[in-house]
Amino acid sequence: MTQRLDNFIGGSRVASRSGRTAPVFDPSTGEVRAEVGLSTPEEVAAAIETAKEALPGWAGMRPLKRARIMERFRILLEDNQEEIARLISTEHGKMFADALGEVARGIENVEYACAAPQLLKGEHSREVGPHIDSWTLRQPLGVCAGITPFNFPVMVPLWMYPSALACGNTFVLKPSERDPSAPLFVMELARKAGIPDGVLNLVNGDKEAVDTILHHPDVAAVSFVGSTPIAKYIYATAAAEGKRVQALGGAKNHMVIMPDADMDQAADALMGAVFGSAGERCMAISVAVPVGRETAEELRRRLEPRIRALKVGPWNDPENEMGPLVTAEHLQRVKGYIESGIEEGAELVIDGRGLTVPGHENGFFIGGTFFDHVTPRMRIWQEEIFGPVLSMVRVEDFEEAVSLINSHTFGNGTAIFTRDGDVAREFADRIEIGMVGINVPIPVPVAWHSFGGWKDSLFGAHAIYGPDSFHFYTRLKTVTQRWPTGIRSGVAFNFGGTGDH
Ligand code: NAD
Repeated sequence: MTQRLDNFIGGSRVASRSGRTAPVFDPSTGEVRAEVGLSTPEEVAAAIETAKEALPGWAGMRPLKRARIMERFRILLEDNQEEIARLISTEHGKMFADALGEVARGIENVEYACAAPQLLKGEHSREVGPHIDSWTLRQPLGVCAGITPFNFPVMVPLWMYPSALACGNTFVLKPSERDPSAPLFVMELARKAGIPDGVLNLVNGDKEAVDTILHHPDVAAVSFVGSTPIAKYIYATAAAEGKRVQALGGAKNHMVIMPDADMDQAADALMGAVFGSAGERCMAISVAVPVGRETAEELRRRLEPRIRALKVGPWNDPENEMGPLVTAEHLQRVKGYIESGIEEGAELVIDGRGLTVPGHENGFFIGGTFFDHVTPRMRIWQEEIFGPVLSMVRVEDFEEAVSLINSHTFGNGTAIFTRDGDVAREFADRIEIGMVGINVPIPVPVAWHSFGGWKDSLFGAHAIYGPDSFHFYTRLKTVTQRWPTGIRSGVAFNFGGTGDH
């Protein structure tokens, strides 16, 4: 019998009574391994109600106590990282070592949240007027919600709720319906760590569940990570309901290779950044931008044999370098982009379609694909493909590289490979992108720096995790107080009338 995946509400697993379900695949075999219940609006509302009931107790707990619970959660995540990674790989398809890396990067965010007592400290100014002091405090927002994508089913939720909880909020997570087992398993660890029942909840579902969150009056803030069209919708809808929102969207990340770059290093970096996780990373490089004809030819010479030799197969063979795509539907979408690249006149140097993995003929596999002579008029440059497809756009000089990247609608990540410090510095200054790598292909910030793109890659004023998350998940209050009460300052009708300005 197919396994049925439940919700997690009030500290225990609760089966959805909705008649609607979605299949969860093992992308390496193409088989359905589980069914996930798509929660009804009433079930989502019940989770929000549970989080609301848990709020006073949790928000009233001393920050140090909450931080200690986070520390226990961190230890349990570390102790269970292999099991979590196994669940990720089984439903997502990424290599086991890559899934372990995802868990490790997620744990960093829990570690960061352990510093809550320090991070929640306010500011204090003594004697802003006679006997008057001013000080600030950061208070929780209330019930917060997170809606997350399939490609990092554990790390992206951990970008959200450890900080939200450490700040004193309660939380409802709506993970991707494509790989919900790992985030559900992590809920059990959170409960074991001592996070009180109702403080952290998970509801599975699709648009219906998301819409209930967006319109519910008791949800104070929404964090979203996913594709740009949905991010725009989430931002507009939740903001119109008066909620605080951060909505992170899609990407098209370029890597510039200057003529003076270490070409072996650049080629190595490209292989991992383009084809790691089958390109299903929002920080994956999908466009190589070699500067000058010679650089382009040299890069192509180095890349071609390596892309042809990519080892594609299931996650549990450590010899493999790349797994399948997440669903058959997504595989078709990626193939459609390859078709469009050919139609629009790009040179298809390596075609990954038609690859079969012996013993896994029904898996959602596609081989590494490489287009040269791609131009900005083509859809394969304009749109996010989210698969193992590298496009090479040749440019004459540094200026052309900068204007190519700045003309794109996305602004998530970018990288430059060079030995010239002046060029690197100018690139970092002028590029209109949120995260920049200098000889670093995937510049995902560590947990104590926030993550966020520009333009169509992020809607909202706050980046995610790190210092920004402690601002996103709290409201600032500023108190101006006078002691002792016996002092008389008289009546002041003028603005700024605290005394002796
Ligand atoms: P997606 O937008 O399809 O889904 C994300 C979430 O939104 C899921 O929980 C899904 O159930 C929900 N959703 C889907 N359609 C909806 C609708 N019509 N109304 C309301 N909710 C809806 O994204 P995905 O395919 O799961 O993930 C891949 C995308 O996420 C890529 O575009 C990738 O670039 C992006 N991503 C961005 C970042 C970032 O930090 N910027 C990180 C990871 C992934």
